Amino acid sequence: MSCKRCEADPRPAHFGSNRGCAFKHDGSFTPKNWNCATINALLEYQQGDEHYGQDEHLEVVSVLTHSGSESNGWIVTTRYKHRGQTASAVHVTQDGYFPVTLQLIEEVLQAYAEARAFDAVARVAATGHKPSTRDPASSSLNLSGQEPERHE
Ligand SMILES: [Zn+2]
Repeated sequence: MSCKRCEADPRPAHFGSNRGCAFKHDGSFTPKNWNCATINALLEYQQGDEHYGQDEHLEVVSVLTHSGSESNGWIVTTRYKHRGQTASAVHVTQDGYFPVTLQLIEEVLQAYAEARAFDAVARVAATGHKPSTRDPASSSLNLSGQEPERHE
């Protein structure tokens, strides 16, 4: 068994072999993994610099509460070089440290997704503009009834 992200994309085209999911049947972490898609999704939220010594890298991701604003500890991961294996992943809190579970990481990813959506809404409220990737010139009023010319 693997997490839903590894199941959905077990072997991206540029990969030389299948992913090895970092989670067992019961959702517990296993260090026998390679490029687990859920771990990779988590590490996109890594805070600040990556810390490393020799070839060992350490990443820290804050655990958001449901309000999306406060930290409820950190997830600390270690990886050897960038070869795709996450050797350890622990949840560090004021009460101690605990092995991560798939459930915890799903909650963290959900909280980040909600915080991101909240940020986007707050930005619209603050500026009155919806975020747009369009060319600013194309957003001017078009009274001719014709499609604006595209310059690509
Ligand atoms: Zn996985």
